[in-house]
Amino acid sequence: MKVLIAEDDAVMADGLTCSLRQAGYVVDCVGTGAEADSALARGGFGLLILDLGLPEMGGLEVLRRLRARKSPLPVLILTARDGVSHRVRGLDLGADDYLAKPFALSELKARVRALARRGGAGVCGLLRHGELSYDQVGNVAEIRGTPLDLSARETDLLEILLQRAGRIVRKEQLVEHLCDWGEEVSANAIEVYVHRLRRKLEAGDVKIVTVRGLGYCLEKPKNS
Ligand code: CA
Repeated sequence: MKVLIAEDDAVMADGLTCSLRQAGYVVDCVGTGAEADSALARGGFGLLILDLGLPEMGGLEVLRRLRARKSPLPVLILTARDGVSHRVRGLDLGADDYLAKPFALSELKARVRALARRGGAGVCGLLRHGELSYDQVGNVAEIRGTPLDLSARETDLLEILLQRAGRIVRKEQLVEHLCDWGEEVSANAIEVYVHRLRRKLEAGDVKIVTVRGLGYCLEKPKNS
């Protein structure tokens, strides 16, 4: 699952990012409200961790715009300890949960797990296609109940393809989703990941089909 962190305090942002990456999440981090707003408009996230005190555009405005776009994305807001009015306003605007600073990273991770379990409009939870299933909380893919041995990249790739199962996913979309910001993933590297993942899926009925010139599509037999 991909998490967007919007936090302008670099130390806090680094701590959150490291902690969530260790817990197996793919993390993007932005430092202004404007950047958060445009990242959210592009989509692809399963959870937003939103500091309310952000430069350029406040966290409450980011949240208001997100909900105005009818996004069901789970949102955890971070507030100052004495920020009761902001907290109330955030919850009124559609935040799902809040943490007052300072907080323990273990508590943050527990809140993130809970929000991921609760899910948002198919963004989180269990994805299924044919004999293949993927648990977005535990990051485990299975074919007929047998777990697949996938690398982190292969897992991300599978999640993206499953979220759009039966539809074409363009190679540029994969490049964008697979790179944490600042880390390049080339189109050639995508081909290698697809090749490896395709072989690991051979035990089941789901196939990654190459749509020449366009991208890839996760397909299952017509009768299943
Ligand atoms: Ca701040």
